[in-house]
Amino acid sequence: VLYDDPQRSTSTPTARSELPHLSRYPDGQTTPTPSKVDFVSGKLGLAKFLEGHDFVVTSSKDGPDSVFEQHLPTADVVISQPFWPAYMSTERIAKAKNLKLCITAGIGSDHVDLEAAAKANITVAEVTYCNSISVAEHVVMLILNLVRNFVPSHEIATSGGWHIADCVSRAYDLEGMQVGTVGAGRIGLAVLRRLKPFDTKLHYFDQHRLSAAVEEELNLRYHNSVESLVRICDVVTINCPLHPKTEHLFNKELIASMKPGSYLINTARGKVCEAQAVKEACETGQLAGYAGDVWFPQPAPNDHPWRSMPNNAMTPHVSGTSLSAQARYAAGVREILECFLEGRPIREEYLIVQGGGLAGTGKHSYTEGNTTKGRARSN
Ligand code: NAD
Repeated sequence: VLYDDPQRSTSTPTARSELPHLSRYPDGQTTPTPSKVDFVSGKLGLAKFLEGHDFVVTSSKDGPDSVFEQHLPTADVVISQPFWPAYMSTERIAKAKNLKLCITAGIGSDHVDLEAAAKANITVAEVTYCNSISVAEHVVMLILNLVRNFVPSHEIATSGGWHIADCVSRAYDLEGMQVGTVGAGRIGLAVLRRLKPFDTKLHYFDQHRLSAAVEEELNLRYHNSVESLVRICDVVTINCPLHPKTEHLFNKELIASMKPGSYLINTARGKVCEAQAVKEACETGQLAGYAGDVWFPQPAPNDHPWRSMPNNAMTPHVSGTSLSAQARYAAGVREILECFLEGRPIREEYLIVQGGGLAGTGKHSYTEGNTTKGRARSN
């Protein structure tokens, strides 16, 4: 289940003709290692590789009449993307009698009801690290975007204006601000590393504490609760997965306890924040701005409050699907499929659920327990 091809036609299909070559991620993990990569454009570059299999590619994913739901009863493998999630609810998992493997072409498998998948002995795997740096870069961009008031200034320029006082009426420097991340895994840590040269004061909260060496390198302050972090920070960036403990973590109460006039950046998952509470805080000024690319559900309805609330810098879910990231997650999906079809183990770091419970990265980053209500709903 993949998002549709571009709606807008351009004379040059891509802005650049090549991608930088990476063989390892910052922690030393190798980038995907499939036996071969076919041209990656459309269908995740898998059509040739999957010749001889029944390979259905669709963007029709919602409701019982969707192409996805029609094929579900016979599917052995479901591949979906966080950007265009095929929600795998308990009901859908019950319908998918042959299903053995759910692959996330990206990172974040919360669109699958992980508890139901575990019970049905379905493996859930994602392409860990494939777009973590893509998102970290985006987070830095969004922080600067809000703090420096970029979007309104750009709009003034494109509309023919030159109203400098209006442009800068909400513009500040990031230098000297207190910046904190909720979640300091691959993305969160990369954000902290990228922000260090801005001479900000860095904070984090995570269920796993980073090493003393990393804390010292980045002059990091660890908080043992999210409440402690948000009281102090001018900028808060959310980089944890969506699971029962993080669903609606940023509710009215927590947002009210944030430093007044702080900025909230969420590229993790829409449901980590309560939509209405964020909107109201942007209206009252409790939040000076909210930026991100994740919503619930996806695609977001036209009347979603985050489309029109003041001081937002929202986009559709794009931070993890740059062309650079696409190449890596397509290769990673192929690597996982090759393992599955040849009966070889899938890399431990790609596993979220296996053998009836959380496994690999899933064990480190998610929590067991009841799935969040409506998180992996049929939509
Ligand atoms: P990761 O597994 O490396 O890091 C997640 C971190 O969150 C871990 O350190 C974990 O301990 C921490 N965490 C879990 N529960 C927490 C809690 N209750 N409070 C604080 N920290 C908690 O994953 P990552 O690569 O850094 O990705 C993080 C998340 O970002 C993904 O799960 C996904 O939801 C989201 N993401 C979004 C995009 C996008 O395009 N917008 C792309 C990739 C990932």
